Amino acid sequence: MSFQSIANQYVCDVPVYEPGRPIEEVARELGLKPSGIIKLASNENALGPSPKALAAMRKALTSSHLYPDGGGFYLRQALAKKLGVRMENIILGTGSNEIIEFLFHTFVAPGDEIVAGDRAFVIYKIMAQMFQARCLEVPFIGHTHDLKAMRAAITGKTKLVFIANPNNPTGTRVKNAELTAFIKSLPAHVVCVLDEAYIEFLDDPPPSIEYALKHNVVVLRTFSKIVGLAGLRIGYGVAQPECIALFQRVRQPFNVNSLALAGGLAAVNDTGHIRKTKALTRRGLAYFEREFTRLKLEFVPSCANFMLVNVGDGDKVFRGLQQRGVIVRPMRAYKMPAWVRVTVGLPAENRRFIAALEREM
Ligand SMILES: *Cc1c(COP(=O)(O)O)cnc(C)c1O
Repeated sequence: MSFQSIANQYVCDVPVYEPGRPIEEVARELGLKPSGIIKLASNENALGPSPKALAAMRKALTSSHLYPDGGGFYLRQALAKKLGVRMENIILGTGSNEIIEFLFHTFVAPGDEIVAGDRAFVIYKIMAQMFQARCLEVPFIGHTHDLKAMRAAITGKTKLVFIANPNNPTGTRVKNAELTAFIKSLPAHVVCVLDEAYIEFLDDPPPSIEYALKHNVVVLRTFSKIVGLAGLRIGYGVAQPECIALFQRVRQPFNVNSLALAGGLAAVNDTGHIRKTKALTRRGLAYFEREFTRLKLEFVPSCANFMLVNVGDGDKVFRGLQQRGVIVRPMRAYKMPAWVRVTVGLPAENRRFIAALEREM
């Protein structure tokens, strides 16, 4: 008997998400030492976790036998204070990715539509398939979201429209004024999702929290990037209380674990780590731009902590770099087979990547 024949057909058809390859896996496969491998494949924080979060998690370990605070009281309170909103405006998730799932559970039924960019974060499209919804993929222009075309793609069946700003994998942003105009133009039956996983890297972010308080907007943020807690799986959403209350119904009672709650709470105000991360990222991006220019490689100027570079044959260069102990991300899944995406690492890691790339070209 075949499980596939019993399973829901749409589940069998869901494309498999290919994450950045873990260091240990590559080490096992290639017979390399894990310590000799660097991973610049998942936009992780090269400086490591927020030190304040680490200390708080060590303390929290001793209470691991207790269920976490399912309501995430202290973390939501701290986030509300920081953002100038109420606790009722905030939902926590096992990574901001889980909140994307809440959005589908809450708003999307089979046959509904969502709108996303064709080079936007691929999870939106995968999730649409999981919920038997149609994903209208609107072509990017100039490596960024085409907001006018996205507005035009909205129909009576559209429930969600996703804007990753800055976007992954392109690293591009939309202009604040264009985003404001887009949000004001949306019909009342559509929820706009602003995925702001990299928003802290912008010097002039849009007033997205204001949008969330006034419009049908859900803002998604994460502890995975700027404060370096990707392994904990914690993120949050900001929206009007009525919307957040719906998300509270669809989540599991203890969706966020106690270490993530403790680490997140300490990281919210770890301004030192955030400042260092931004400075390291800025220097790393400038270095990549100089080196890609020297190597005559096309690249996409980035507003986040990673960069797209055109290497001719992305899969081949990905494999070649991997042999040299440098893990990057090939971009075939984004229909950009000539490109790889590289995350900003420590200066020595960035130099090692460039040296390995130079040999591969
Ligand atoms: C990394 C990333 C996230 C974060 O996901 P988490 O589940 O919070 O780790 C969300 N959206 C985009 C576009 C990302 O690149």
